[in-house]
Amino acid sequence: ADLPPHHIKLREARQVAATLTEAAARLRRSEAAQLEAQARITLSNIELEQRVQERTDALQQSRHLMASILEHMPAAVVVKSAADLRYELVNAAGELLLGKPRDAIIGRTDQDLHADAEARARIASDRQVIATRQVLDLPAEAVTEANGRTRYLHTRKMVLLDSAGQPSHLLGISLDVTDSLHAAEQLHIAAVAFDSQEAMMITDAQSTILRINSAFTASTGYTQEEILGRTPRVLKSGRHDQAFYAAMWDSIIHRGSWQGECWDRRKNGEIYPTWTIISAIRDDQGVIRHYVCTQSDISARKQAEEEIRQLAFYDPLTRLPNRRLLVDRLRHAIDSCARTKLIGALMFIDLDNFKMLNDTLGHDQGDVLLRQVAERLPACVRAVDTVARLGGDEFVVMIEGLSEDAHQAAFMAQGIGEAVLTALNRPYQLAERPYHCTPSIGVTLISDHELTMDEVLRHADLAMYQAKGAGRNTLRFFEPQMQQAANARAEIEHDLQEALQRGEFELYYQAQVDAAGRLIGAEALLRWHHPRRGLVLPDQFIALAESTGVILPLGQWVLQSACAELALWADDPAMSALRLAVNVSPYQFRQPAFAAQVQKALSDAGADPHRLELELTENLMLDDFSSVADKMRILKRIGIAFALDDFGIGYSSLSYLKRLPLDQLKIDRSFARDVLSDPNDAAIARIIVVLGHTLGLTIVAEGVETDDQHAFLAATNCNAFQGFLFSQPLPAAEFRALAARALAAAAPAP
Ligand code: C2E
Ligand code: CA
Ligand code: CA
Repeated sequence: ADLPPHHIKLREARQVAATLTEAAARLRRSEAAQLEAQARITLSNIELEQRVQERTDALQQSRHLMASILEHMPAAVVVKSAADLRYELVNAAGELLLGKPRDAIIGRTDQDLHADAEARARIASDRQVIATRQVLDLPAEAVTEANGRTRYLHTRKMVLLDSAGQPSHLLGISLDVTDSLHAAEQLHIAAVAFDSQEAMMITDAQSTILRINSAFTASTGYTQEEILGRTPRVLKSGRHDQAFYAAMWDSIIHRGSWQGECWDRRKNGEIYPTWTIISAIRDDQGVIRHYVCTQSDISARKQAEEEIRQLAFYDPLTRLPNRRLLVDRLRHAIDSCARTKLIGALMFIDLDNFKMLNDTLGHDQGDVLLRQVAERLPACVRAVDTVARLGGDEFVVMIEGLSEDAHQAAFMAQGIGEAVLTALNRPYQLAERPYHCTPSIGVTLISDHELTMDEVLRHADLAMYQAKGAGRNTLRFFEPQMQQAANARAEIEHDLQEALQRGEFELYYQAQVDAAGRLIGAEALLRWHHPRRGLVLPDQFIALAESTGVILPLGQWVLQSACAELALWADDPAMSALRLAVNVSPYQFRQPAFAAQVQKALSDAGADPHRLELELTENLMLDDFSSVADKMRILKRIGIAFALDDFGIGYSSLSYLKRLPLDQLKIDRSFARDVLSDPNDAAIARIIVVLGHTLGLTIVAEGVETDDQHAFLAATNCNAFQGFLFSQPLPAAEFRALAARALAAAAPAP
């Protein structure tokens, strides 16, 4: 390596240069890195600062939030230093409670703010909290305000610890509970009052029951679970009508409350009287929000009243009305007699030889007898009649509304008197021995002949003495003519037994016409040609025939005669389309063989069952219902029609109309008589027609005497008519002549 020196130098220089270049490059590289690092640091610093700022802002915000929450809290909040109990913080409610602005509180102690005793108490309890580090609860701390009013605070005190776990502050929170304490007190008072002796119920405006008390449960039997959510309707007894409730609500709505007597129904079904007060509770706007109802059970009071009534008006031995009540009812009877013109009867009943019984067997046995008599008498009369005991062995029976006709009334009274005689003649059961006793009965009529009550009573009494004079166990009328009527009854009863054999009966026929006035049929009406009395009408003997059993052969005779007449009609073009209605007594209908008897009468005579109609009366419906309906169905199957007679009086229960296979209703003739003068009767007649038509029945009006009556009944849509206006009941031949004339009149002129 012998190279020339310049060569060496060049090589060195190149090396140096290369090294330098390299060094320079290296230097440049590290500078850039440094710069870059520098930049990165700056960047992250900025980010950091930003984040710190954000944090600081958030912190500030949440502190502000906390402060304002604290400030607006309804509870008073105070913070005192644990060391010297100086106030360090107080919120707005705290200022209010301490009665001072914040400036006058912060930095002070309770000693500065309160009177001595109170300050000492506060400080003592503060110290205790700090010492024990336990929360102190004072649920109702009484604080007297500057104006002297006492308020109640619920205060809670607790200690706050520093990071080293040492007490730094005392926190006090106080809530004013004065109002809620008062409210609770009110509630308690209300609850005690609500649970009083009176049954109480509170409903909302829709009458839904919201609350009841225990007295309510005790008196109604319904518990809370059973009745809340329901309405007071469950208590309805059904004893009050629409009008009662309407007046009640009117008073509640317009006067704010209602009170009165009300019959309610307990859960067990028992109905009881209450004194009820219902008040409406309105809100500030005057809208009804609730109803409050208090009820006291007045059963006991009612019962006491009833007992007083019993003592005043009833005989304690027999429980029958006493003289006082009888006199009262008699006065009414005389008044109503003047109005209705219907004659009644008063019966004096005196037991024969009662004094002897009393003397020989003792008063106890006498009482037993009187009680048995008292039990038998009401069975002889209708429920509306009065049976009274005047004292001793004297009883009185008063019967109202017998008849407009005095003879007829006497006749009926005689019948009732005879029933009483029979009933009281049955043996009595006295201590282990049967006893026989008879009565003497005096009867007088109650009519509007300006008789006073005393006269009526005296007449009956006199008649009773006549009965005694006539040998006892008998009945006498005060009025001599009535005695004749009564005698006639006995005579008729006697004659009735033979009248059938003697052929004294005859059927009359009364026309029935349709709405257009066309003859459509007849009703067969029984007449008795009495050898001495002449023509006797059914009202004088049907009842007697029934009570003596004569009605059975007599009714059978009526059926046979009617069927024979029907068969005769079938051959006559004027009459072949007519129907014949026959009256059937309940005694007759009740016979097990009745349906067979009717069929036999029809077939013996060769009459068409489709032309026969049987008229039944409502008192038949008191019998076993289904057996009546069964018998009717048997007869209907062969074509016989059924009418219900005298409808609208008597029992008139509408329920059986639907359940019986009837074809026709006959409106009682008293309606025809009264529709023009009595708006009530007019309304009932209209209802009967509508109702009958609804049930698919035809309606016949009976007893039509005048054109005006006819016009009225026709306007109510009756289907057929019967009465003197069209024809009297006529003997068979005369009726046939009438039918022939009717056919001729209806036939078109030649
Ligand atoms: P009823 O079935 O209501 O018969 C209608 C009665 O009204 C008949 O009385 C008849 O004469 C009468 N009458 C008809 N048109 C008029 C009128 O325009 N004005 C008035 N005021 N009355 C009128 P009658 O014939 O005295 O019969 C009385 C009751 O005796 C009958 O009432 C019926 O219940 C019963 N009766 C009649 N015949 C028989 C019978 O054959 N058997 C049975 N069991 N009872 C009969
Ligand atoms: Ca009839
Ligand atoms: Ca009738």
